[in-house]
Amino acid sequence: MFVVNQIQKCFVPVSQCDQKSRVVALANRGAVLDESMQLPALSQLGLDGNTLLLPVGELDGAPCYACRVDPECFTTIAGRAILAGASEDVREAFCRAQEMLLWRESHRFCGKCAQPLIPSTHDLAMTCPACGAVYFPQIAPAVIVAITRNGGNEILLAHNHRFNEGVFSLIAGFVEMGENLEEAIHREIKEEIGIEVDHFRYLASQSWPFPNSLMLAFYAEWAGGEACADGAELSECHWYTRDQLPRLPEKGSVARAVIDAFVENRL
Ligand SMILES: [Zn+2]
Repeated sequence: MFVVNQIQKCFVPVSQCDQKSRVVALANRGAVLDESMQLPALSQLGLDGNTLLLPVGELDGAPCYACRVDPECFTTIAGRAILAGASEDVREAFCRAQEMLLWRESHRFCGKCAQPLIPSTHDLAMTCPACGAVYFPQIAPAVIVAITRNGGNEILLAHNHRFNEGVFSLIAGFVEMGENLEEAIHREIKEEIGIEVDHFRYLASQSWPFPNSLMLAFYAEWAGGEACADGAELSECHWYTRDQLPRLPEKGSVARAVIDAFVENRL
């Protein structure tokens, strides 16, 4: 079982850590895993004693740390493959390590007074000893929506410029400051494909640590308007039935899981 740490900790040199500790050794948006897709123990990595490790929680009762390693010295598994194929514990540890380490690396100094930040003694936060500012870890929520019509027999999929050639997926977008999830869903869909939806309901969520998102997946029904890609973010969108789907995103994302649920008539 993976358990998160409740208070922000300091980096610790390898020489002071238990060799049985588990380590999320990060490189190239992936991590080092053994042949059975488990996180290695510190003793297996052969890291220099001065390497700094960030405590991120506990895995099966052992301390769990995050660090970056040289991609030329280690074989890593791509983050997406970890999300698709690793156990729930390893997936959670990987997502947390990836996000916590990036957050710590980008919160070294106070944004208000520029003094060095220190870990809070009573919160999962960094604080400024000079002006008292407190910085909590940041997650960027994004909504992802499976829009159907014709009694749930057609689904709307779109091609985003950032996708691989020919890949179509669900409509997605970040929640803006000041919005609730419902407002974000209506705005994103209106902006990107110009249609109205209703009857939406929550389906599932997924931590998406590239770099710090939380994906919230919803089901919605088409309620009016002609679907037309905005041309900016999306280049194409079409309605698809189960028997004539385009190329889909790789497994491992909540988007793919939701499309698979549509295909299997489980939405
Ligand atoms: Zn400050």
